[in-house]
Amino acid sequence: MQRLGIMGGTFDPIHYGHLLMAEEARQAFALEQVVFVPNGQPAHKKAYLVSAPEDRYAMTLLATGSNPHFGCDRVEIERPGPSYAIDTIRHFRRSYPELDALYFITGADAILEILTWHEYERLIEECRFIAVTRPGFVLDRLSEIAGTRFLERVSFLPIPGLDISSTDLRRRVAEGRGIKYMTPDAVQTYIARRGLYRHPAPAGPPHPPAPSPSEGRRGDGEAIGGRNPLPREGEGRVRGPGEGEMP
Ligand code: ATP
Ligand code: MG
Repeated sequence: MQRLGIMGGTFDPIHYGHLLMAEEARQAFALEQVVFVPNGQPAHKKAYLVSAPEDRYAMTLLATGSNPHFGCDRVEIERPGPSYAIDTIRHFRRSYPELDALYFITGADAILEILTWHEYERLIEECRFIAVTRPGFVLDRLSEIAGTRFLERVSFLPIPGLDISSTDLRRRVAEGRGIKYMTPDAVQTYIARRGLYRHPAPAGPPHPPAPSPSEGRRGDGEAIGGRNPLPREGEGRVRGPGEGEMP
């Protein structure tokens, strides 16, 4: 493989906004593969406690299975400690030493936080970024907050706006409203079978100690999972944490 895209996210749950942006990036940048990488222990806190990594991974598998150019990778959910994009990028560089191009695909909201990502300076040297448009976020401010080096490393990609977010999907399920046509049917069925999101998620864990100036937040994933138990026996359990660890 020569040209690879990485789609990082919490995917709690994955939805058509994620799938569309990945496919648009794949076509626009002639990527042979886009790999979806759900966060394991997200690097900084979200306001709510995110779902179990295995549920988020299973939904990502279900959503991406029909696209031969999409893949999923467990690297972040298998790696202990916070999920930093830089570690993931290095993992893929090691796995595919012959790569011509490695792109990290993000939405407008995530890219606006780029300065807070762990080892930001190194990260922008190790991969290029594709920043897609997202309804409700304007990228104009990026040139004010990020330096010229970063702007050289990021490509902006306008995509058809889908005003869909995982937050809205979770809220809809909790309120008993539908999510059809917002995420693939298989994901919708998984959510129903597992009883995910029926109740508003409790608040996330307390903030960890403030990072040192060189250690930032990751930008696209935060608090650790654990709100939902793993699937019960016979409910399509994928693999539990610690079973079959990868490096
Ligand atoms: P949440 O509401 O829980 O934050 P989300 O919908 O933002 O969920 P994430 O898993 O946080 O989804 O996002 C992963 C990546 O996908 C981020 O780079 C984010 O900017 C991007 N993204 C998510 N939804 C969209 C969308 N509808 N349009 C464009 N980009 C999106
Ligand atoms: Mg988000």
